[in-house]
Amino acid sequence: MNHEPSERTTIKRIPERSSYDKDTVQSILTEGMVAHVGLTTNTGVVVIPMTYGFDETNLYIHGSPASRLLKESNNNHICATITILDGLVLARSLFHHSMNYRSLVVMGEAEKIEETDQKEYALDLIVENLIPGRVENTRSNSEKEIKSTLVLKLPINEASAKIRLGPPVDDDEDHLLDTWAGVLPLKISFGKPEPDPLLRNGIEIPEHVSALIQQ
Ligand SMILES: Cc1cc2nc3c(=O)[nH]c(=O)nc-3n(C[C@H](O)[C@H](O)[C@H](O)COP(=O)(O)OP(=O)(O)OC[C@H]3O[C@@H](n4cnc5c(N)ncnc54)[C@H](O)[C@@H]3O)c2cc1C
Repeated sequence: MNHEPSERTTIKRIPERSSYDKDTVQSILTEGMVAHVGLTTNTGVVVIPMTYGFDETNLYIHGSPASRLLKESNNNHICATITILDGLVLARSLFHHSMNYRSLVVMGEAEKIEETDQKEYALDLIVENLIPGRVENTRSNSEKEIKSTLVLKLPINEASAKIRLGPPVDDDEDHLLDTWAGVLPLKISFGKPEPDPLLRNGIEIPEHVSALIQQ
C-alpha cells in the first residue's frame, strides 16, 4: 500500500524524484539513524536531532519528560526528516553540482504514549533500529526507567520520500569541457569496536555487533 500524498507532502520540485511507496518509506526508515524533528514553539521554530524507531504505522521518538517536544510544540504538530547521503555529484559546471540521497519527510500530530507496554515496545524499536538484535541480548528497561521516559508516536501516513541517484545532469554544451565529472559514493561504516574500560574480562564481541561491522 502506498502513502497518498497530502497537499503539503506533494513534492513539486523535480516530482520524478518523489516516492510515496510504502516499501521505499520503510527502507529509508530502516537505513536511517537520525531524525531531525522540527516543531514550532512560542519562541520560534526549532529542529532537534533525535534517534527513532518505527513500525508499519508509526514513527517513535523518545526523550526526557523535561524535553520541549510536547510541552512547547504548538498543537503537538511535528515534522521528522531522515536523510541518507549516498554520494557527492560533481558536474562540469558549479551550478549542476549535487548530491545523491534518499530522504523522507513525515508530518503529523504526535501523541504521547501512556501505556507501559506500548512505551516498552516503542523503546525496544528505537534500539533495534540502530542495533538489530540488541534488545534480546540486553537487560530490559525497568518500570522506573520506562516511567521516566517520554515516548511519542507520529503516524506515518503523511509521508513523502525523495530520491536522487545517478550521474550529474550537465548542460549539453558543457560535455565538451575537460573538467572531471562523476559521482563520489559515500557510505557510513562502523569502525573497530572499543570495549568499555569497565567491561568484565572474557566478554566477547557478540554476533549482533560483529554483524554491523561487516556491513
Ligand atoms: C544524533 C543525535 C541523536 C539524539 N537522540 C536523542 C533522542 O533520541 N532523544 C533525546 O531526547 N535527545 C536526543 N538527542 C539530544 C537532542 O538533540 C536534544 O539535545 C535533547 O532532546 C534536548 O532537546 P530540547 O529542545 O528539549 O533541549 P533544550 O535544552 O531545551 O534546548 C535549548 C537549546 O539548546 C540547543 N540544543 C538543544 N539540543 C541541541 C543539539 N543536539 N545540538 C545543538 N544544540 C542543541 C538549541 O539551541 C535549543 O534551542 C540526540 C542528539 C543527537 C546529536
